[in-house]
Amino acid sequence: MKTTASFYFARHAAILAAIVTTFSCQSVPEANVAIAAPPAAATAAATTAPATDPKPAPVTPARAVRVDPATVLARKEVPILCYHQIRDWRDTDSKTAQNYIVPPQAFRDQLKMLADNGYHTILPDQLYAYLTTGAALPPKPIMLTFDDTDLDQFTVATPEMDKYGFKGVFFIMTVSLGRPNYMSKAQVKALSDSGHSIGSHTWDHHNVKQYQGQDWVTQIEKPSKQLETITGKPISYFAYPFGLWNPAAIPQLKQRGMIAAFQLSGKRDVNDPLHTIRRIIVPGAWKPATLQSWIQKSF
Ligand SMILES: [Zn+2]
Repeated sequence: MKTTASFYFARHAAILAAIVTTFSCQSVPEANVAIAAPPAAATAAATTAPATDPKPAPVTPARAVRVDPATVLARKEVPILCYHQIRDWRDTDSKTAQNYIVPPQAFRDQLKMLADNGYHTILPDQLYAYLTTGAALPPKPIMLTFDDTDLDQFTVATPEMDKYGFKGVFFIMTVSLGRPNYMSKAQVKALSDSGHSIGSHTWDHHNVKQYQGQDWVTQIEKPSKQLETITGKPISYFAYPFGLWNPAAIPQLKQRGMIAAFQLSGKRDVNDPLHTIRRIIVPGAWKPATLQSWIQKSF
């Protein structure tokens, strides 16, 4: 596949470096909040705007809730963790790679810490309702997300999560479905059927900032349709490959049904905080106490 391991980890190394330097508090200056754009006037009906309209209104997904960005930014962030592979380190794993590989025992210890400290996992629909309407969340909410379709997320991570009744969010890159060491379509459906959430992570993990024209169909539209066919449920949430996004990507995602999107730990967009929701990668070397500390200081 195009995203070879070395390419993959090299790209992620740059992202991690950025994460480490931007891990500090991501507060939004009050002035920025005050000048946030008014809520888009668009509704689902905008998709049927008259063809004569020279400036079609921006399209909002049918499931989207209209909300002022300042309202979203003012709510306390829910901690969101991002995992990749859950397996023991190998001699061939570089230091950088180890940031994306959490050994099963470390993962077990982290989940136990979360459970012992009263955390409750939530899913994107709950987060979305909270951010847009203020809907109540369980005490100490947290979201566990898993990128890239790695098989050990299904074989190792979810059985551990089952012990605590935890549910996760799996952002699938569809090119890898059924390939060795990646999940199959049946496994993705099994996750969905057992109460986990399935989101999109593009077709083949190319950087969203570089998409043009047909790329939006290849990377966003077709994978969503495929995942909807597999799960029988709407696909409404998206995770940016490498956590990389730009403002131009957001209307493209909205047009294709994504009501929220997840980056990594960069600052949220003042106009579209729902499409720049923050997550932190959990490096493989973090002890439970280290994770607990980052949860508290990063969100
Ligand atoms: Zn990824």
